[in-house]
Amino acid sequence: MIKIDKLDIKKAHEGLVNGDFSAVDLAKACIKNIEEKDKDINAYLEVYDDVIKQAEYADKKIKNKDNITELTGIPIALKDNILNEGKTVSAASKILENYKATYDATVVKKLKDAGAVFIGRTNMDEFGMGSSTENSAFGVVKNPYDTNRVAGGSSGGPAAAVAISSALGSFGSDTGSSVRLPASFCGLVGLKPTYGAVSRYGLIAFGSSLEQIGPMGKTVGDVEILFNTTSGYDKMDSVSLPEDFYSKHKKKEKLIIGVPTHFMKEGIDEDVLENFNQSVEKLKSLGYEVKEITLPNIKYSLSVYYIVMPAEASANLARFDGVRYGLHKDGDSVIEDYFETRESGFGTEVKRRIVLGTHVLSSGYYDAYYNKANIVRNLIKSDFDNAFRNVDVILTPTSPTPAFKIGEKKDPLSMYLSDIFTVQANLTGMPALSVPSGSVVRDGKELPVGLQIIAPLLRENILFEIGKRFSGENN
Ligand code: GLN
Repeated sequence: MIKIDKLDIKKAHEGLVNGDFSAVDLAKACIKNIEEKDKDINAYLEVYDDVIKQAEYADKKIKNKDNITELTGIPIALKDNILNEGKTVSAASKILENYKATYDATVVKKLKDAGAVFIGRTNMDEFGMGSSTENSAFGVVKNPYDTNRVAGGSSGGPAAAVAISSALGSFGSDTGSSVRLPASFCGLVGLKPTYGAVSRYGLIAFGSSLEQIGPMGKTVGDVEILFNTTSGYDKMDSVSLPEDFYSKHKKKEKLIIGVPTHFMKEGIDEDVLENFNQSVEKLKSLGYEVKEITLPNIKYSLSVYYIVMPAEASANLARFDGVRYGLHKDGDSVIEDYFETRESGFGTEVKRRIVLGTHVLSSGYYDAYYNKANIVRNLIKSDFDNAFRNVDVILTPTSPTPAFKIGEKKDPLSMYLSDIFTVQANLTGMPALSVPSGSVVRDGKELPVGLQIIAPLLRENILFEIGKRFSGENN
C-alpha cells in the first residue's frame, strides 16, 4: 500500500504520471485511512460508492495521455453543501437528509473536467452555521491532533478528511471563517478567495454576500492548484467576476506587510500571540518590510457580521418549506405544514439565526440594525482600502486560540468570538489565506495554529507567493 500520508497533490501527480502508482492505488489508500481512522473522527457523512470507478476512469486518461491535469486522479473531499449531481447533499441538516443534488456545482464540474476523484461528502455545521462542527445534525467532527477537541468549523469534515490523509485536498465554504479556521485547527492551508472569484453556483446558500467556496490542502502550492482549477467567470453566478478582472498586476520587488497590533490586545491566548509575533519576525528575516497599521473600525466587525449574516441566512433558508426540497411534515393546514417541517428539520443554531435575521430585517428595526450594519460594513472596507495604500498584505492570527474542547463553548457568543480575525475578509470580499505557523501545547498535546494573510481584491497571487516563502515551499 502506498504511503499517502507522505504525499501532497504535487507529489501524487508526479507519482501518477511517472507510473509509480495508479489513481486506484491512491483511492484505495484513502478508503483504508477512512476505515481505520474515521470511526474516531467522523469527517465523512458518506463515502461515495463509485470512488474506484472514478479512479479507474482517471487511470485510463493518464494511460492515454488524455487531457491530464495536475488534478487527474487526485482524491478530493467535498463539504456537504456543494452539489454533486445524483449524490445526496444535506448541509448536515435533517431538513435535507435525503436530498439528492439535481445538478453539479460549477466547482464540481470543473474538478470533474480536470479528472479529480471525489472520495465523499464531509461533515459540517448545519448550513455552515458554526465554528466547531458541533452544530452538525450528524455528530461533531473530532480533531485528529486531539480527539477531545473540535476540528473547527464549519468545514470541520473537509479539514479532518485531509488531515487524516483520506483525501489530498478538499473544498469547504467560507462565510465568516469556515475554511480558514478548520484549516488552522487541523494544520492545513486554507483559502477564502476574493468574493466573485469562484462560482457559488451549486453551493447551498447561507450568507450570499459573504461566502465563497474555498480549498484546503497540505501545502500552499496545492491550494494554489485547487484555486486555479476552480476559479473563473461563470454566467450562472450573478456576482461572478469577469475574466479580465484577474488582470496580472505588476510584480513588486519588495512587498510590505501590515500588522494591526492594536487589534490583538485582548481575547487572544498568550502563546498564540507569541506564535504570531514569531511569524512576523520570520517574515522580516525573509526580507519583508513590516509596518504597523491602524484599522479604526475593525472592532465592529463581529457585530456587523452577526447582523448581516443572519439577515441573509433567514432569507436564504426561507426556501426550505417542506414543499420544494427535502423533509416534509404534515400539519393541519399548509401553514402548519411549514411550521412542523421547519420545527423538526432545523437545529437550534439555525433557528436562532432565522429569528435574529428576521428581526433585524423587520420593519421598524431594519434601519436600526440592518442598514446601520451595512454603513459600518462600508467603513470597515474603507479602513482596509486605506491600509492597502501603504502595505501589500495584512497579517493576523487565523484564530485567537488553538482547537478548543468539544462542549467547551457553551454559549453562542463565546463561539462567535472564534471568528474575530476572519470575518473582515468576508465583509470586504478580500482574499485571505491561512497557513500553518507552528503549534502550541494544551493538555500535553501539540495543537497546530495558523497565520492569516489578507490581500486586496484579486491578489491571491501575493498570498500564494508570501505563503510559500513563509512555509519554505520551493515555487
Ligand atoms: N463561524 C461563522 C458562523 O458561524 C462562520 C461560518 C462560515 O464561514 N460558514 O457564521
